[in-house]
Amino acid sequence: MVKELQLRILPEQAASEQTICKYLSDEHGINPKDVCALRILKRSIDARQRTIFVNLKVQVFIGEQPATDAFPHIEYKSVEDKPSAIVVGAGPGGLFAALRLIELGIRPIVIERGKNVHERRKDIAQISRSHVVDPESNYSFGEGGAGAFSDGKLYTRSKKRGNVEKILNVFCQHGASLSILSDAHPHLGTDRLPSIIENMRNTIIRCGGEVHFQTRMTAFLLKGDKVCGIEAEETLIHDEKTEKHLLSFEAPAVILATGHSARDVYKYMYARGIEIEAKDIAVGVRLEHPSHLIDQIQYHRREGRGKYLPAAEYSYVTQVEGRGVYSFCMCPGGTVVPAASGPLEQFRYGG
Ligand SMILES: Cc1cc2nc3c(=O)[nH]c(=O)nc-3n(C[C@H](O)[C@H](O)[C@H](O)COP(=O)(O)OP(=O)(O)OC[C@H]3O[C@@H](n4cnc5c(N)ncnc54)[C@H](O)[C@@H]3O)c2cc1C
Repeated sequence: MVKELQLRILPEQAASEQTICKYLSDEHGINPKDVCALRILKRSIDARQRTIFVNLKVQVFIGEQPATDAFPHIEYKSVEDKPSAIVVGAGPGGLFAALRLIELGIRPIVIERGKNVHERRKDIAQISRSHVVDPESNYSFGEGGAGAFSDGKLYTRSKKRGNVEKILNVFCQHGASLSILSDAHPHLGTDRLPSIIENMRNTIIRCGGEVHFQTRMTAFLLKGDKVCGIEAEETLIHDEKTEKHLLSFEAPAVILATGHSARDVYKYMYARGIEIEAKDIAVGVRLEHPSHLIDQIQYHRREGRGKYLPAAEYSYVTQVEGRGVYSFCMCPGGTVVPAASGPLEQFRYGG
């Protein structure tokens, strides 16, 4: 039998599967020995009153195992002998585009100017150690893109983006914690992100796609006004000597997923009269509060969050003279990272 229950319980009762099972036994008469599996479908914290509750929607499998996985898996089939498309950039946009191409039966050729996510770590450590920024491998450039070494928050307030469930499922299929499927404010975690990204790359390669690192797109190949491929410069380092090779890749379609820092790409397109459209930007300021203070205010208690509650957050949204003003994200306990993408650039900071 499968029971779906809506629970409103104390944080210490929601702390683990064991404590939830104990609650189910005490309040719903379900013998913990009969519980074969427990799935948390939704989790949120209600801190509006002095007593804080955790709202949980759970599925309890009593005397039977779940018949389906916790999320639908996508079957990525081989596209080895299928038509190709080039994807420039292996940030989230590029990686998800490549996986989607595979679903559609198209072979992705991914071109990334930076290094793979593990080698990129060394260049990122170098930025903090000696303030030297490698213009091709930094917080913005390299496999995983601009957010690869950040918190990996997945929460969006926007209602315009459609259903994001599939994105969460794809992350889970590549090693993210199942908690992102149920948390009201899901996040991947800095420690897990690199291996999730690597698993996505492995899916692309296993299906017959290609991933080229340290290969920077320099121009489009054009036939009349149609794009038929790209030119790129590959950098190889042997015995501390750097070699550069010019390459060209041909395919009937090119997806540009080069992110906000690829100024050279946009300058190139602008100079060639290729139509590009500026995107609105939001200008931000960083506010710092002691995490303990926010915990005290949001959880209405002097001792703060205690053992069973996560770091508290708040969000602020208002309109000023017809423009939206809103808090973007909170990163309790996070560090401020120097997200410059070039040696002469002022340090841009991201949390
Ligand atoms: C420090 C920091 C923290 C962040 N934290 C979060 C967060 O917690 N949650 C969240 O949702 N968002 C976060 N973001 C924002 C998020 O990272 C971006 O919205 C996201 O990375 C955009 O994805 P993208 O694929 O469009 O571009 P990008 O991630 O910028 O990827 C573009 C890729 O293209 C490559 N590229 C560029 N030019 C070329 C070229 N000529 N040839 C080949 N390759 C090229 C780059 O090397 C890069 O890998 C953060 C950003 C930063 C900087």
